[in-house]
Amino acid sequence: MLLIPGPVSCSTEVIKALGTDSLSHTGGEFTPIFHNVLKQLRVLFHSPTSSGSMPLVISGSGTLGFDLVGNNLFPRGKNKILLLSTGYFSDEFGECLGDYYKHDITVLKSDVVGESINLVKLQDLLHKGSYDGVVMTHVDTSTGVLNDIKRISELVHSESPGTLVIVDAVCSLGCEEIRFDDWQLDFVLSASQKAVGAPTGLSISMISKRALDIALENDNTVSYYTSLKKWVPSIKSYEIGELPVTYFATPPIQLISALNIALQQLLSRDYVGEHRKRSNWFKKELTESLGLELVSRGPVETTAHGLASVYVANPGGIVTALNRLDIAIAGGIHPEIKGQYIRVGLMGCDASEPTLLRVLDAVRQSQT
Ligand SMILES: *Cc1c(COP(=O)(O)O)cnc(C)c1O
Repeated sequence: MLLIPGPVSCSTEVIKALGTDSLSHTGGEFTPIFHNVLKQLRVLFHSPTSSGSMPLVISGSGTLGFDLVGNNLFPRGKNKILLLSTGYFSDEFGECLGDYYKHDITVLKSDVVGESINLVKLQDLLHKGSYDGVVMTHVDTSTGVLNDIKRISELVHSESPGTLVIVDAVCSLGCEEIRFDDWQLDFVLSASQKAVGAPTGLSISMISKRALDIALENDNTVSYYTSLKKWVPSIKSYEIGELPVTYFATPPIQLISALNIALQQLLSRDYVGEHRKRSNWFKKELTESLGLELVSRGPVETTAHGLASVYVANPGGIVTALNRLDIAIAGGIHPEIKGQYIRVGLMGCDASEPTLLRVLDAVRQSQT
């Protein structure tokens, strides 16, 4: 049983799609499958073709999205980027953009570990500085913090309309609401293996019209494989769905077929409502029944719905006890509080109430 915050266990139907033979990547059988994936991603992101946005699916893990941003969206080099830091993954994103792509990074850190970004401080920084991009994590998987990306984006657009709004949604796509067009986002990066419910190996993102224009005119790209100038014609031809398809780098046939099924299953359910309900129930059990403190501050309803991070006296003991029951949960990864908490994934097929009740039992037993 996999109760870590990604990768998650996949449904039988998804696994079945993964076990199919190869198809021609430019042929009449595969093209409609990829076409369907891109169409469904527009539904998932609430971003129809009319907005000029574009969904992207590229072999690689979620981290590849950091490079897509670094290589394509900031053509001047040494661009000014404001990084909203809520934990481990935002800091990795910052390292990619600063240390590897040499942009000029200003960091606004949450005041206390487990808090979301202070909007008054953000407004002040946006007012004083001029940034080419604001980069944030929707759900910080090291803490369970859920940033209000809608409000943050509103603030960026009102204070600094030219600034690109960039979101890491690896741990939120498929379990939190993301309204790409309504919230005026420019680049949202995610991956296949968390709440989307597909196997590992695909970087999934959505890019706005204005960000796409920047990427396609960017003469300063430094990496070939992540260049959107190379990817866009190919993915666009799959989206149109007509043959012949423009070739650039063979897409992973089986992974895309599995993603197709995972998206069909996800979109047929109230995936946001289901994750909210499960998360609110589980976190109330942890806090009200067991008297524990979550790492993410504030009412449980305002924290991430794809995982629970909770301070416990003996994280290692709980992980080991659950391992004996064949249930894998995760330890802490936030450098400041690493050995003090556990993380329980609430996404994927294994995150059912009976399994979560066994986790609650193990936590309860460790307290006595
Ligand atoms: C898992 C995760 C990543 C990294 O994704 P990989 O697929 O492991 O490369 C990045 N950001 C967040 C918020 C994540 O949860």
